Amino acid sequence: MKVLVINCGSSSLKYQLIDSVSEEVLAKGLCERIGIDGRLTHKPTGKAEVAIEAAMPDQKAAVSLVLAHLTDAVCGVIADLSEIEAVGHRVVHGGEKFASSVILTEEVIAEIEKCNELAPLHNPANLIGINACKDLMPGVPMVGVFDTAFHQTMPKKAFLYGLPYEYYEKYAVRRYGFHGTSHSFVSKRVAEILGKDVKDLKTIVCHLGNGSSICAVDGGISVDTSMGFTPLEGLVMGTRSGDLDPAVLEYIAGKEGLDVKGVVNVLNKKSGVHGISGVSSDFRDLDTASKEGNERATAALDIFAYRVAKYVGSYAAAMNGVDVIAFTAGIGENDKGMRAKIVEYLGYLGITLDAEANDCRGKERVISTPDSKVIAMICPTNEELAICREAVALV
Ligand code: AMP
Repeated sequence: MKVLVINCGSSSLKYQLIDSVSEEVLAKGLCERIGIDGRLTHKPTGKAEVAIEAAMPDQKAAVSLVLAHLTDAVCGVIADLSEIEAVGHRVVHGGEKFASSVILTEEVIAEIEKCNELAPLHNPANLIGINACKDLMPGVPMVGVFDTAFHQTMPKKAFLYGLPYEYYEKYAVRRYGFHGTSHSFVSKRVAEILGKDVKDLKTIVCHLGNGSSICAVDGGISVDTSMGFTPLEGLVMGTRSGDLDPAVLEYIAGKEGLDVKGVVNVLNKKSGVHGISGVSSDFRDLDTASKEGNERATAALDIFAYRVAKYVGSYAAAMNGVDVIAFTAGIGENDKGMRAKIVEYLGYLGITLDAEANDCRGKERVISTPDSKVIAMICPTNEELAICREAVALV
């Protein structure tokens, strides 16, 4: 079966066409600047890449262009649209309604719309992508895969905030967690690699990318995760502050003459390692700056590693133990220095890093020594493949 995986944002759209049997990517690409002017990068496997400027007034125009390229005589990878048997859509927020992936019926779409308020930047854009695909590929089954679904197993003690209970009842204010597709994929893959049953493993997945989160997976089930009501909570990230004393909001608002929205914007877009260092949100730039003696870049890297290590410690406590710590996403898969820096804090758990094994990028690999009491490993994530598998399972 050929499955089209769509991740539709407000001004961009990422896609992959995957053969679900071989799990090979037939083509992938990115539409950017939707609603502004429009740019498409299309990468068909085994053929030359195409990069064009093309008008994309809206998401429907972007999807239309993608479909034209997938079926193009020169850069296409399928003869006809009828070869696409399912479309898997990434949906950021499923609230408490969706604890697993679903076929996107009209009723389901209406329920997702109700979650828009919880993710105003993401869900409406996801829905526009879904509706565009429904229009352009009528009759093809569509599946929604939620970032929040995997964490719906969290117990109340992990998902409730210390706020008046009626805010949860009236406004659904609670911790939801994100990156669920990645945490689910990695925790399952870790068990496969180790030849163990996921039910027998306590795994801490460290998804460290531009957005970062950690998840405690006990027996294949998410029991806690570092992101909360929104993806702002938890770790210090590329540009996001992560955990913070909420009183800081009022104080900064007063000092900087900002309203609440203005301060939250700073916490989302101008904070994190970028805000601390004043250099970049990219860890490669921070590493270079730190090596050149930039103290703020060094501080940013130290703060990042320290916060990750604190969360790992707290999740080892939450699960009363840990068998595997898995590193994934841009930083987790590629940054050997950051992995080493984090593992340095974890000696008390009985982890010993194998420096030679750690000296690699983007490979599935155990990076702890054979006598290490807890296994540390790199496990590249693949959210698109996870979405494709969910779509196949439901269709
Ligand atoms: P992601 O959000 O998972 O795509 O991760 C993106 C981030 O990964 C970038 O902002 C970089 O900070 C980081 N990254 C990617 N490649 C490397 C690398 N080779 N070394 C260090 N960090 C990297």
